[in-house]
Amino acid sequence: KLRDAVEDVVLNRRDDATERLLDAAEEYKGQAGGQKARTKDLSWRENPVNMRLEHALVSGIDEYIVADTEEARLEATRPLDVIEGPLMSGMNIVGDLFGEGKMFLPQVVKSARVMKKAVGHLIPFIEEEKGGVIETNGKIVMATVKGDVHDIGKNIVGVVLQCNNFEVIDLGVMVSCEKILEAARRENAQIIGLSGLITPSLDEMVNVASEMQRLDFDLPLLIGGATTSPAHTAVKIEPNYEGPIIYVKDASRAVGVAQALTEPDTRVELVRKTREENQKRRERHAGKTRLTPQMPLNRARDNRFQAEWSGYSAPTPTFTGTRVFDDIDLAILRNYIDWMPFFNAWEFHGKFPAILSDRIVGEAARSLFSDASVMLEKIISEKWLQARAVVGFFPAAAVDHDDVRVFASETRDEELMRLCHLRQQRSKPQGQFHHCLADYVAPVDSGVTDYIGGFAVTAGIGIDEHVVRFEADHDDYSSILLKALADRLAEALAEHMHERVRKDYWAYDADEQLKNDDLIAENYRGIRPAPGYPACPDHTEKGKLWKLLDVESSIDLKLTDSYAMFPTAAVSGFYFSHPESKYFSVGKIARDQVTSYAERQGIPLAEAERWLSPNLGYDPK
Ligand code: SAH
Repeated sequence: KLRDAVEDVVLNRRDDATERLLDAAEEYKGQAGGQKARTKDLSWRENPVNMRLEHALVSGIDEYIVADTEEARLEATRPLDVIEGPLMSGMNIVGDLFGEGKMFLPQVVKSARVMKKAVGHLIPFIEEEKGGVIETNGKIVMATVKGDVHDIGKNIVGVVLQCNNFEVIDLGVMVSCEKILEAARRENAQIIGLSGLITPSLDEMVNVASEMQRLDFDLPLLIGGATTSPAHTAVKIEPNYEGPIIYVKDASRAVGVAQALTEPDTRVELVRKTREENQKRRERHAGKTRLTPQMPLNRARDNRFQAEWSGYSAPTPTFTGTRVFDDIDLAILRNYIDWMPFFNAWEFHGKFPAILSDRIVGEAARSLFSDASVMLEKIISEKWLQARAVVGFFPAAAVDHDDVRVFASETRDEELMRLCHLRQQRSKPQGQFHHCLADYVAPVDSGVTDYIGGFAVTAGIGIDEHVVRFEADHDDYSSILLKALADRLAEALAEHMHERVRKDYWAYDADEQLKNDDLIAENYRGIRPAPGYPACPDHTEKGKLWKLLDVESSIDLKLTDSYAMFPTAAVSGFYFSHPESKYFSVGKIARDQVTSYAERQGIPLAEAERWLSPNLGYDPK
């Protein structure tokens, strides 16, 4: 078996040869000579203490750090000297290597853990002798904005900034604008950093910028997070605030920007350059908006995807109403994990498992994967997390072009709820449709009795206790690792439940035989679009889903006022069974559709424009 796998690679016999060999290699792991292949090289322990501290920092080894720090403290005149001497110089090396692309994010976060443990040991001694304050490069107040609960990215950025000797005042998640600005004043901060993952957070960032203007702030404002972008920063945020506003793409950029901002010369240059770029972005954006008019809604509707309903018989689910799944076995979920987004969270890009053997990042990626595997094992065997799901099916029909009517019962005479969807309006080449999710449900007058499904899953129940434990131990690395793994388990759970739905509950594909790669590639029948994602970008539809499935009381998964789910390790969405249903992106839409949508939702136009703001193909002002 091993020889075949090797020959496949050497002779380039199959496309998936690398993956197969890596799989096979797993089985042979640690077998060389019947011994564990690698033994630890401890020769560095013979070096003088300052060199040991440096080595521990650069290699991210925290095993001996407290003892070594204590030894250095006893030798030093003041405890502060240990920080300002060997610890700082070790972290400088880490910072330089990271800047040069010779160290990668997980390694830096591990180094930071070593640093924090050392500093944690010294702080009581410094306080005891009132031995002065630690000189830093500057103070940064950071927060995930109101309504949002995602903090993996923010925490990573915070750690990396701390590594580079910035003092980070991390206000946590769901932080109101008042609290952020009040903290910035009180702490006399030099920079404010905002983070957010879901689209409603974009609006909250605009709000913070406007408030900074109103309250006469002039501090630089850094913007980061998954849905933020240079364009949004330039077009939507910057016009509200006269101080510097800088979009920061990822943790590796954060340090350069923060450093540039704290030195007068570089600051002037960075601010000038950013303003210029933002101005250009705004002009480009205005030009693009002028040049790409949307298709009028009625014409987009005429060009909808029309399934062949006559003769179609929609599959009948095995139950209607909801079913709750408590305490799903995490060991099953592990097989459904899509690992690449895990590596993305740590700023590795490429493909899994190829990333593990990458020439440049392979070693760092393998080490991260090994840490993740060890922790995953513990999560499973010690039951750190609880996974829960609720799934429901309901009689349904498409109405008024873009909506789905959910019926209270099989008699289909009482409307329980109306789900509102959005339709693509960008101009398209001949033969391509203007898609809308409602097209995948049989219309009310089609004579077909169709259904819609819904789900909400979480793998985050119980996570807090462990996050608190790690943070108390100055262990951001493990805390971030755990959150990233919980996210993976939640996505794996969504994948697993969807498979069970296709095979057992909606049972339209009982014989489906797909491998995890096929599942990740979405090679199954039907889709599970999630509100807030491209096919249904309005987060508020989650509110309806929550009612329909009674999510909060059935699995204890909650929504914030921006419709972020918490615990954050969660996925929710709708199930569509039609064989031709597919994921797509609604993209930019025009005022005629937003007007119609607001009416259908029964909300004022301005409110619809606020929730749909990332999708507006026009300026509502
Ligand atoms: N395999 C990936 C899936 C991420 S997408 C992972 O493990 O991270 C997260 C969820 O968004 C999916 O489970 C699905 O419910 C939904 N989704 C994916 N593409 C979508 C689209 N274009 N529109 C709406 N929802 C989508």
